[in-house]
Amino acid sequence: MPFNNGKPYHGSQAVEGGRLKGRTGRTDYFFFLCPICNDGQIMRILEYEFRPVTRFVERSEKKTPKEPFNLAFHLYCPICQLEDFVKIDNDHRADKIGEGL
Ligand SMILES: [Zn+2]
Repeated sequence: MPFNNGKPYHGSQAVEGGRLKGRTGRTDYFFFLCPICNDGQIMRILEYEFRPVTRFVERSEKKTPKEPFNLAFHLYCPICQLEDFVKIDNDHRADKIGEGL
């Protein structure tokens, strides 16, 4: 089954602008927290997709990624039923959040 049934997707305003937060729990697993419930409710990752990397910026950092990646996650909150999308890659600048990121 293709990611999101092959339909286009993009994160909504519910997750953009710093509204989607996450953290580790007792171990090293990382959890996305529902921005609607906003009470620490963990979102289920329904599916994920490796996305093609079309460009990769060389940076003058002491260490650089060995391989570019871009992952999309389809998130779901079992309490409020929010479904949304978020992406993670290793190409964005590693600056302070909010400075253009
Ligand atoms: Zn929720």
